[in-house]
Amino acid sequence: MLFSDYHTHPQGHRVQPYTQELLGPWADSARKIGLRDIAFTDHDRYHAGIDFDEIDRLREKNFDLKIRAGVELDNDPGHSAAGRKWIEQHWGKLDFVLGSVHFLCRDDQMFDSVPAGAEQFEGRDIDAIYIDYFRRVREVAATGLVDCLAHLDLIKIHGHRPNAEIHRWLA
Ligand SMILES: [Zn+2]
Ligand SMILES: [Zn+2]
Repeated sequence: MLFSDYHTHPQGHRVQPYTQELLGPWADSARKIGLRDIAFTDHDRYHAGIDFDEIDRLREKNFDLKIRAGVELDNDPGHSAAGRKWIEQHWGKLDFVLGSVHFLCRDDQMFDSVPAGAEQFEGRDIDAIYIDYFRRVREVAATGLVDCLAHLDLIKIHGHRPNAEIHRWLA
């Protein structure tokens, strides 16, 4: 049985400062479905909303749960440099850092936007896109800041499959 979830976005996709009202339902529903160990991993571009004191307060009220303070660091050309800096500054308080790739050749649009991001694949060499994707995955891993990579298979979100064996590109 699944007992942990280390990929959650309490803020959704905007800055919503952490409060007990925002975080409490996550603890309640974790308990309800039998999770004992959860991590909050909002995207690094919303780091302004993350409040470690609020996470501490939530821990005090939910001593039966392991609640980890985390973040998802992706490769957003506009924000992730600041995100990396924030992670370094708060390293001592972070229990868990997810790493992910949401951007390919376009700086202004996540490739996994549905449906708009599908345009980034149209008429392109899919193998080349896969190679580029895994190069970017390695870059995120090479920051040395991430504990785990998220949704490694996100590249297939629009249904494109590589023509070659991908294991060589993963090395
Ligand atoms: Zn995520
Ligand atoms: Zn992600």
